[in-house]
Amino acid sequence: MLFGAPGSGKGTTGKMLTKLTGWPHLATGDLLREQITRKTSLGLEMQSILAAGQLAPDDLVSRMVWDRLGWPDCEAGFLLDGFPRTIPQAEGLAQWFSGRNFRPVLIHLWVEYNEILRRLTGRRTCPTCGAIYHLESTPSKVPGVCDTDGAELTVRADDREEVVLQRLQTYQTQTWPVAETLRKNGILVEAIDCGEMDPESVADRIRWRLDRIGGSIAKKSKPE
Ligand code: ADP
Repeated sequence: MLFGAPGSGKGTTGKMLTKLTGWPHLATGDLLREQITRKTSLGLEMQSILAAGQLAPDDLVSRMVWDRLGWPDCEAGFLLDGFPRTIPQAEGLAQWFSGRNFRPVLIHLWVEYNEILRRLTGRRTCPTCGAIYHLESTPSKVPGVCDTDGAELTVRADDREEVVLQRLQTYQTQTWPVAETLRKNGILVEAIDCGEMDPESVADRIRWRLDRIGGSIAKKSKPE
């Protein structure tokens, strides 16, 4: 589980870790935005909630996640990004893990507040392939255009400054206590101070930590 404030790098790091591990990258924000883009009834319902920097309802997001975790590609391991984000989601996930043969780890990506603001306000994303850029630190080769597929880059609706502040507040009040809830449920919590590190180094560090903890990354733990 990749955990941290908006802008802490969960999305970028998750994409890199997927390449390193072969595990699918399940980002609840991406799953919700996909529904919005496809204009499904769920997407239409979620559009204003996300644009206001608030959280989608627990039962809805949780159902979406349980469903996705049942796919065969999750059997050998998976990366959750943006879930769990509330205490009820965390309790539900701890229950989901109990009785299943996984060794869950929460990776807490620590980034200082001003750096988060800088990252979110300069972020640009590709609406087609989901690639993430930053105007200063990781710009696209041609300004405003995705390096991979040439699509025009966009500012996420919730990256506008007033929404960013709301998201950070939502994070403080509803998401911050999640790490403690999981720890109390016996789930390992590892913190990484990554404010000054580039995304490759963060992904390498996580992989190194997982290797150290789990013996061999990308493998389900063996039955006792
Ligand atoms: P960030 O971590 O930068 O806020 P995400 O893409 O993870 O970006 O999430 C974007 C938005 O999607 C959140 O502000 C929230 O509205 C919604 N969302 C994502 N994950 C969840 C979740 N687990 N529970 C409720 N809402 C969620």
